[in-house]
Parts: sequence; structure tokens; C-alpha cells
Amino acid sequence: GSSGAPALRLHGLGKDFGSLSAVKDVSFDVAPGARHAVIGPNGAGKSTLFALVAGALPATAGTVMLHGDDVTKLSEHARARRGLVRTFQHSSLFLSATARENILIAVQRRHGVQGQPWRAVTRRRALLAEADEVLEQLMLQDRSGATAGSLSHGERRQLEVAVALATRPSVLLLDEPAAGMSPADTMAFQELVLGLPAEVTVLLVEHDLDLVFGVADRVTVLHLGEHLLTGDPDEVRASDAVQHAYLGA
Ligand code: ADP
Ligand code: MG
Repeated sequence: GSSGAPALRLHGLGKDFGSLSAVKDVSFDVAPGARHAVIGPNGAGKSTLFALVAGALPATAGTVMLHGDDVTKLSEHARARRGLVRTFQHSSLFLSATARENILIAVQRRHGVQGQPWRAVTRRRALLAEADEVLEQLMLQDRSGATAGSLSHGERRQLEVAVALATRPSVLLLDEPAAGMSPADTMAFQELVLGLPAEVTVLLVEHDLDLVFGVADRVTVLHLGEHLLTGDPDEVRASDAVQHAYLGA
């Protein structure tokens, strides 16, 4: 990829389900380091767009560029290896493993496992240190030894982000993280997103507008599968078209 390229460029992206166009001709850029949110009323196409970007669904039309490289034809796994990493809306954690172990698994996957006994010991220390760093970044150090299954809903969401972050993504995709969260959990999650490393680009698909306007520096609005507007939060809030999409539908 080229250094001046956007972190993500979506161009003419479309997805049909039979006769229904869930996403129609959507184009926008996500700048490196952005906290970019995609919003829209129910049925707007947010989840479908997220799946197209992550590679979970094949696009009917258009392209997805990652740092200037066309990844449209790549699988979700291949995109993840290039640094485009999603968290899962439905938990993908090992529930009987501790928070620290869940992160360690992701760290180990990134480094690969090595054979020689002494090297394995020193390596393990480095991997544990890296896992602990991620635990701290995500404000989970107090829950380090707790099994994922014993965490609260909000803590699990935190851990899911931690596991994704442990893979050192360049672009982190967050799929409706506030879904099912209490207001207190949502506020804690907002702090977490604000505390993510500045160099990680974040693309957030989210229904909760308080969370979106609390974290996003750029917002894209979808309505009935179409791109309505991409702009700064103030611009989006002031838009008549956006008000109409939410209230006048
Ligand atoms: P949002 O996440 O913004 O609520 P979705 O992307 O889930 O919107 O859905 C957009 C439209 O596509 C909706 O009309 C929905 O019913 C339809 N849709 C989503 N997924 C499928 C699917 N797998 N098969 C058929 N229709 C789908
Ligand atoms: Mg959705």
C-alpha cells in the first residue's frame, strides 16, 4: 500500500440479497487514525456494509481498498492478516480461559509458536508482557485472572476489543459494541475507544448515537442502503437529511 492512501476506501460498494439492495453504490474514505462511525436507522445497511468491509460477505459491486491495496477479493482471514481486524458481535472468546489467557492466545497467534525450550521460556515472558500491556490498555488488569465466562457483559465487550487489539491491527472494525450494554457500560466503553492507540484506525458501526457522537471524529450516514452523508459530527447532527432519515422515515 502507498503511504498517502486512506486507511480504507470504499468505492461503489453494493450488496444485493435477491431483489433487495441492502447496500447501494456506497463510496467514502476512512482516514488513517480516524474514529469513523457509520450510523443509520434500522435496515439502513450498517451490518451488511460492515460484513462487506470485513470480508464476511462478498460484494455484489464495488471495491474495498486497504491502505491503497484492493482487498475486495480477499477472505476475511486474509484481510485480518493484512491488519483489517474485526471484533465479533457474538462472542468468540474462550469462556473457560482467563481474560489474560484469551489475549495471550491472540498474541501467540500473531507471533507463531517456536520450539526450542529456553527460547520458548524467554519468548513466553515477552508474550505475557505484551498480553499484560493490552490488558492495561483496555483497563482490564483487575480482571486478568477472571475467566471470560465470569465477566459482565460490558467487560466481555472490552475483552473482545482487547483480543482484536492483541493482533496489532492497523484498522479495527467494531460491530455495534453498545448493543445490549447498560448506559454505564456504554460510557465505560466510550472511554475505552477514546483510549485506543492513536495510530489504530477505528471504523465503528453503531446504533447508539450518544456513543457515536462521544467518540467519532467522522460520521457516515446510511439510509435504506444508500450513502446519505459523510462529514464531521457537527455537520451530520445539523443535517436536515439526517434528521429526516431518523425521524421522518
Ligand atoms: P442495519 O444493520 O442498518 O439495521 P442490515 O444491513 O442488517 O441493516 O440490513 C439491511 C437490509 O438488508 C434490511 O432490509 C435487511 O432485512 C436486509 N438483509 C440483511 N441481511 C440479509 C440477508 N442475509 N438476507 C436477506 N436480506 C438481508
Ligand atoms: Mg445491524
